[in-house]
Amino acid sequence: MAETLPRACGACSLCCKLLPIAALDKPHDRWCVHCRPGAGGCTIYETRPEPCRSFSCHWLADASFGEHWFPQKAKMLVQVVTVQDANYDQFVDVHVERAAADPWRREPYIGDLERLAAYPRTLVRIFRGDRTFIVRPGETLEVKRA
Ligand code: SF4
Repeated sequence: MAETLPRACGACSLCCKLLPIAALDKPHDRWCVHCRPGAGGCTIYETRPEPCRSFSCHWLADASFGEHWFPQKAKMLVQVVTVQDANYDQFVDVHVERAAADPWRREPYIGDLERLAAYPRTLVRIFRGDRTFIVRPGETLEVKRA
């Protein structure tokens, strides 16, 4: 049975721009060649690669997540990833459009991110172009990518 999500993405498709998809040799923040934004989205939906199939947009999946996080409005996309890590149980990954003026640094976004970062064993990571940041309650750090 198909999963019923509390929201619909409509003509958003921003995931098909912001996420890096190695299987498609698609970098972060560039439209996938298979995407028709605003005109039906994925043109290879039935055969799209696994990372596209398993991707879950947090705004779509969590109705308690504010409307201001609608990706096309926020210019950001949030993905919560469960991990097996010595220090963390989940990563909250925020993928930001390079052309946007760092909306994650402003309210209401930074407050939401700091609240998420206060959850036990949760790491909030911001990806914008070739820069990566970590958000913790009361501070933001830029980190080098491995
Ligand atoms: S293959 Fe389809 S779902 Fe995956 S990024 Fe491209 S357009 Fe989006």
